[in-house]
Amino acid sequence: MKSEKAEGPAGALGARGAAHGGANGGGAHGGAERAAERGTEAPRKPAARQTREHAIRGIAVAPGIAIGLIYDTSEIPAEAPRRNIQPGQVEAERQRLTDAVALSRKQLGKLKSRLAILPEEAQEELAPLLDAYVLMLGNSRLLRGARKRIETGLLAAETAVQDEAEAIAALILSARDDDRAGLKRRADEVREIARRLTRNLTATPFRSLKDVPEGSILVAEELTPADAALLDPSRIAGVATEEGGADGHTAIMLRALGIPSVLGCVGLTESAQRGDQAVLDGSAGTIVLRPGEAALEKGREALAAFAKERAKLAKLRRLPAVTTDGEPVELQANLEIPAELPLIAQAGAQGIGLLRTEFLFMNREDLPDEEAQTQAYAQVLEAMGTDQVTIRVLDWGGEKDMEALSQGIAPTHAGPNPALGLRGLRLLLKRPELLEAQFAAILRVADRGNVRILLPLVTNPSEVKEAREVYERVARRLRRKGVHLPDRLPELGCMIETPGAALAADAIALEADFFAIGTNDLAMYTLAVDRAEAEVSHLYDPLHPAVLRLMQFATEAALRLRMPVSVCGEMAGNPRLVPLLLGLGIRCLSMNASAIPRVKQMVRSLDIADCARFARRVMEQSDPQRIHELVMGFGSGSEKG
Ligand code: PEP
Ligand code: MG
Repeated sequence: MKSEKAEGPAGALGARGAAHGGANGGGAHGGAERAAERGTEAPRKPAARQTREHAIRGIAVAPGIAIGLIYDTSEIPAEAPRRNIQPGQVEAERQRLTDAVALSRKQLGKLKSRLAILPEEAQEELAPLLDAYVLMLGNSRLLRGARKRIETGLLAAETAVQDEAEAIAALILSARDDDRAGLKRRADEVREIARRLTRNLTATPFRSLKDVPEGSILVAEELTPADAALLDPSRIAGVATEEGGADGHTAIMLRALGIPSVLGCVGLTESAQRGDQAVLDGSAGTIVLRPGEAALEKGREALAAFAKERAKLAKLRRLPAVTTDGEPVELQANLEIPAELPLIAQAGAQGIGLLRTEFLFMNREDLPDEEAQTQAYAQVLEAMGTDQVTIRVLDWGGEKDMEALSQGIAPTHAGPNPALGLRGLRLLLKRPELLEAQFAAILRVADRGNVRILLPLVTNPSEVKEAREVYERVARRLRRKGVHLPDRLPELGCMIETPGAALAADAIALEADFFAIGTNDLAMYTLAVDRAEAEVSHLYDPLHPAVLRLMQFATEAALRLRMPVSVCGEMAGNPRLVPLLLGLGIRCLSMNASAIPRVKQMVRSLDIADCARFARRVMEQSDPQRIHELVMGFGSGSEKG
């Protein structure tokens, strides 16, 4: 997927490596200063530059090999220009500060819970520091002073926090004490907590991602889906983070962009230093920092092998996706950002099975209006010609928090359990103006291509009914205005991605025109395992019998009504799972474009009767481990036993 581009950094490495030499690339001074810039980042790291090879195993999320220099994104300062407020804004500013304090406490709590996995030495250093930070987020002078500055100085919360922190730091440094280093440390601690608060107050994304030197391997504590959307795959060779799970939206975005990536690398930010060389294997889920000659050579070989494999798969592009007994299988692409459109064409996708419209709402401070959305959808439809395009209306909420918008649209969505709160269709029905604008924009371009509309996070048939009422109302309004719409409106389908929807699929099928099974969320909600959480990623298992049974129930409900049903979660892009999915009756798979060739290769080797037999055997199992064995053994004869 990435090999040619990844060769760039490998080739350029000599010059760049020499330029960096053994000099400190900025990694040594960072821990305490940078901690506030990233959610749960460890606040301090050893001062001496590390030189030894260090291999870390994480979660393989996007295949490909990258050899390049580490670029640690944590050194990006939050932008918080001085700002005054009006007297009427005091209450709102106080509330912003309270929210930022709560978020900062949560981040520090999370970091504390991760201390146990660090070496004892690091724990001893970090634990008291974290306690000091937490204290400063209580009834501290810093917060009391900042609140006072908001009220009496009419300052924005971030300005108030910074001013108060500087005043306290100056006071500490002016004390008569011979332990100057100790005083400086205390002053820095106050400044650091102020920086964390400022970052949270300004919801600063990793803005300077665009400045990452070409060919770098990006290292971060955590990357949000919105951050990932800003990455330029032609510049970034690889991504590695401490946080994140295999099927979180960040992972999906990275796969879509074709950037070799490994998430969930414990201890990564402790050990990686800016300017270090690294070999990242997004297929194996490893990153080797400061590789020795042997590891480097292995990386180069893997890079060449990956490029060869890719060239082989590219030859499949024009061949049809049919099984050996002639059953056609539709292979469609998921689209995260329009930049992927050329990849979709290259992969030979038969349309877009899931266009996630969240990209339109990310990294901006206002909402895209109907006109802007119309243009965006028109661009996609034009590129896809007569191929089907399934546009999913906004699935905002859960981990897909679009921070800049949360103030204005649904300030309540970030409740104690965002994934269970006002997410997806729930939010759209509560804010029908959002849904109306999106429906209208899609309807305006409906006669320019072959479009369908998909509703996210459905749990009840009544939600679909209500959405359809909005849909028809919008269509009537547009027709009254003289907008030409097709006689038959585009189909309105449902994501089946909650256990509730799967088990009520027979009732929901009566309200919907098609189903798209979202196995990412279905697995998350069924197993109560956050799909983006590294700590529980070992429990996240779409092959768990509970998930498979729900998929089977929903698929059969659709097939009974001869209603189209597809799978568009990450499962669909895993060639090893294709026999099972076909055996369950699925004939349409939508996945990240780069996965299509491998999946097609698998489809072309299968016989439907074998798949059906295999699926029956799998569905008899109740032990997830046994199911894994069967799935991995498919084709070796073991599945027949
Ligand atoms: C899913 O949940 O499987 C899905 C396809 O939707 P998303 O990944 O965008 O939540
Ligand atoms: Mg989903």
